[in-house]
Amino acid sequence: MTSSPRRIIILGATGTVGVRALEIIKESPVQWQICAVSAHSQQQQLSDLVDASIPQYLTSDADDHQRLLDILQSGHYDICLNAVVGAAGLPFSEAVLSAGCDLALANKESLVMAGSILMSLAASNSATIVPVDSEHSAIFQCLVGETAPIKQLLLTASGGALRDMPLADLATATTAQALAHPNWDMGPRITIDSATMMNKAFEIIEAHCLFGVSAEQIKVLIHRQSVIHSMVEFLDGSIIAQLGPPDMGFPLHYALHYPTRTQSELNGFDIELFSELSLDLPDSERYPALALAQQAISVGNDAGAVLNAADEIAVASFMAGDISFGDITKLCADALTNCCETKCDTINDILAADLRSREYCQLQLS
Ligand code: NDP
Ligand code: MG
Repeated sequence: MTSSPRRIIILGATGTVGVRALEIIKESPVQWQICAVSAHSQQQQLSDLVDASIPQYLTSDADDHQRLLDILQSGHYDICLNAVVGAAGLPFSEAVLSAGCDLALANKESLVMAGSILMSLAASNSATIVPVDSEHSAIFQCLVGETAPIKQLLLTASGGALRDMPLADLATATTAQALAHPNWDMGPRITIDSATMMNKAFEIIEAHCLFGVSAEQIKVLIHRQSVIHSMVEFLDGSIIAQLGPPDMGFPLHYALHYPTRTQSELNGFDIELFSELSLDLPDSERYPALALAQQAISVGNDAGAVLNAADEIAVASFMAGDISFGDITKLCADALTNCCETKCDTINDILAADLRSREYCQLQLS
């Protein structure tokens, strides 16, 4: 007896994660039906990526955006991969979870902005959020079948493109230097965020929401090889880790086939990659962004949305040559101190915080 194909919607299909997901689906032993794909600006690239029979939506078009939200809310699919970059991904995550469908989540901004609202939505609609971010996929995999309390999560970080730059030169690093990531091939925003470690700050917030642990229970470790994707230490002191080459194909393959672990075409163990694995504590002077995660978690409410919006503005300004590398984290810290409000019950409150933070940052930059 043949089973019916697994129905998927891929948002952000033209991005680094989206393109890799399409490759994983092509090589998958499971039969797939791609119900829809979306992108933002790259119409031709979107058409080139998929069969003409697959509905395509360009979210820079307001009608398409609404149609896509309607499709997500209809729930006529099994899983949606949200690989959109930035705050723009949040309404899609909300629509998928409202429909009670499973969400393979690469768009970490959804959880950074509205983690507690989305986790409640998933629970009340019996939807599963399967993380695609490699660290969270690792932790998720380490926790399968575990009921013992978590002592701490050990979140690994490559250290980004500027990890070896002398501290004195860091503030004036160029965009080309900050974009030259040593291990991962990623979109520009997350690559800059890796250099400042704002990406790791977001991942602390993401882990706090997904796994229900406090900020104090999340320790960041610099792991230059990006092979240990993260670890969980349990109450008995035992540590379980998930390892693999630095290829988003692995967490994507896992998330798309979850809860089954199926055969893949991915190249796993390579002795050279695994022979020298190092772990170090991060330098807080080099990576001041890390402290902002602790601050955002302790402030709560809309702090994650404020922080993310400030970082989007700051990274875009840095990429445009308007501010220095050192100013990215400074602007984010400034917004976090000045833009948070205590009322935050709905996604609309979150979107208001996003706007407030953007307007504040634009004013500081003008
Ligand atoms: P890219 O910049 O490569 O791709 C982003 C995708 O989002 C593109 O398809 C783009 O469309 C689309 N997009 C951009 N703006 C909008 C918008 N306003 N509305 C709807 N769609 C939009 O990003 P990545 O693939 O690197 O990252 C995607 C997400 O995954 C991010 O949240 C990132 O943090 C996360 N992630 C990425 C990893 C990686 O290895 N790249 C690792 C872990 C997490 P278009 O191309 O048409 O403009
Ligand atoms: Mg990550």
